[in-house]
Amino acid sequence: MSIKLEAVRGMRDLLPGQTAQWGSVERIMRNVAAQYGYAELRTPIVEKTALFERSIGEQTDIVEKEMYSFSTHGGDSLTLRPECTASVVRAGIQHGLFRAGGQRLWYCGPMFRHERPQKGRYRQFQQFGVEAFGWPGPDVDAEILQLAARIWSRLGIVGLELQINTLGSESTRTQFRAALVDYLESRKDALDEDSKRRLQRNPLRVLDSKNPAMQSIIAKAPRILDYLDIAAAAHFSELRARLDTAGINYTVNPLLVRGLDYYTSTVFEWITDQLGAQNAVCAGGRYDQLASELGGGQVPAAGFAIGLDRVMELIPSQQRKALTQVTDAYLVWLGEAARIQAPRLTEILRDAGLAVISHCGAGGLKAQMKKADRSGARYALILGDEELEQELVTVKPLRQDGQQQHLTWSQAATLLQSHRLPVLK
Ligand code: ATP
Ligand code: MG
Repeated sequence: MSIKLEAVRGMRDLLPGQTAQWGSVERIMRNVAAQYGYAELRTPIVEKTALFERSIGEQTDIVEKEMYSFSTHGGDSLTLRPECTASVVRAGIQHGLFRAGGQRLWYCGPMFRHERPQKGRYRQFQQFGVEAFGWPGPDVDAEILQLAARIWSRLGIVGLELQINTLGSESTRTQFRAALVDYLESRKDALDEDSKRRLQRNPLRVLDSKNPAMQSIIAKAPRILDYLDIAAAAHFSELRARLDTAGINYTVNPLLVRGLDYYTSTVFEWITDQLGAQNAVCAGGRYDQLASELGGGQVPAAGFAIGLDRVMELIPSQQRKALTQVTDAYLVWLGEAARIQAPRLTEILRDAGLAVISHCGAGGLKAQMKKADRSGARYALILGDEELEQELVTVKPLRQDGQQQHLTWSQAATLLQSHRLPVLK
């Protein structure tokens, strides 16, 4: 029987031309997270289905229709993780991490949701996220937004809009929910099926509706910001002040509620107008009750997830080139002695931390130079038999203007190091 050899719908292979950029972007995110004191946590890709049902919420898009769930031979119901916050909280409780005080964590890896595939929306997609546990105040909310802003600037991404809102305290949400239900009940006939269903069990989610027919009703709905108690209002205004101090622009969007049930207090999204309907590149907020709902005691928490598949589309082409050019030099040899001795030079350069491709196989100068150019390396190093004796090499820039130079091997190493792209350092 022949099978059609192709990847599962909505799931992509990333080929060598793409993985260089992905690797560089992930490295930048890891480095920025480390600059803020965040440490990596790796959790399994599969968790018990009940973990996601209880944390994300039964009435959410993810749990209602997007999860890849299956039963094992042993009869357990398991799910490919649709997001990672629930897994991080589960791991934190299981290993007693929260008892040790504040925890700053990050993760990066594939998530799975059964959605309609389109540009910027896949069934396997990659998220990079941070989660901070143990700090109830707006200082840590602002910290993770500063961290995200630094990631955008390191990647050269401009034009993102940060939208923030607050869902207030428990009592805010109780009062607001009652007012919202009253209002929506009074317009019940105009509600779509999704909204009717959510009205009783999770009315805040009605505000998250993307249905154009619902927008005029949503626009006139009560505003949660009018229901904040003193503590919630103070938290939100300190967050705003901290963002101002950090020079981070934002707009307050009182309709932002986020699609997952566990959010409390601060919520936010970074959005773009460059990706059509897939406009959110990073989303998050506080989830102060999640650990206790999962039986892990009271642990205040804040975090976000960045969608890497969307971020990749937003990187300006100039920066994209820089992120892809990870090879410093391509070594071309001329003559038999140089061919045999080439590894002496390439290993010296690699000892100096440089990335060097050594020409393998046969080929004259022209053919080898063509390969050097195609490799994406920033320099060609040309090693001839006579140069070998004096430990000299010809260094020729491939990606920028400049004369070719005749240098000693150590001078060549110094030159290549000084021309390493900052993104690779
Ligand atoms: P959307 O409204 O676009 O469906 P979401 O609210 O479901 O997003 P979150 O659960 O908050 O998304 O996930 C955080 C980020 O992960 C999103 O802002 C987005 O960048 C990315 N993301 C979510 N779902 C997908 C997907 N199916 N394909 C690619 N990226 C995704
Ligand atoms: Mg979604």
